Amino acid sequence: MRITRKRPDTRRGPAENFTGEVWLDEIASPQQPFRTRMFSVHFAPGAHTAWHTHPHGQVLHVTEGEGLVQRKGGAVEPIRAGDTVWIEPDEWHWHGAAPRTFMTHLAVVEAAEDGTTACWYEHVDPADYPA
Ligand code: MN
Repeated sequence: MRITRKRPDTRRGPAENFTGEVWLDEIASPQQPFRTRMFSVHFAPGAHTAWHTHPHGQVLHVTEGEGLVQRKGGAVEPIRAGDTVWIEPDEWHWHGAAPRTFMTHLAVVEAAEDGTTACWYEHVDPADYPA
């Protein structure tokens, strides 16, 4: 393996976009014309994203633990290490850890022309997050 570029520091997921303790490692970031961004996202038990969309969709690949994903209008679905989830372009959804376990997933997106990778909306209603 050849390391060509220092990886940015791990950073905390901001409270406006996440509930609970979330940490992101950026593994791949856009350097024109490459527009793929890949993160390893670490969710503490109960932590999850707010509702959001991705302009070009998203691939989630769970590397550790057990988590949850929900698409607008759909049921909350369990995901676990080894699972891969495809989110359609502009599909409202959220994802995160299950209530009592850590979960880590790789998240892969392609940035739009203007660099946008996600549009963020409201936090998940606590009544909709399984106890
Ligand atoms: Mn997403």
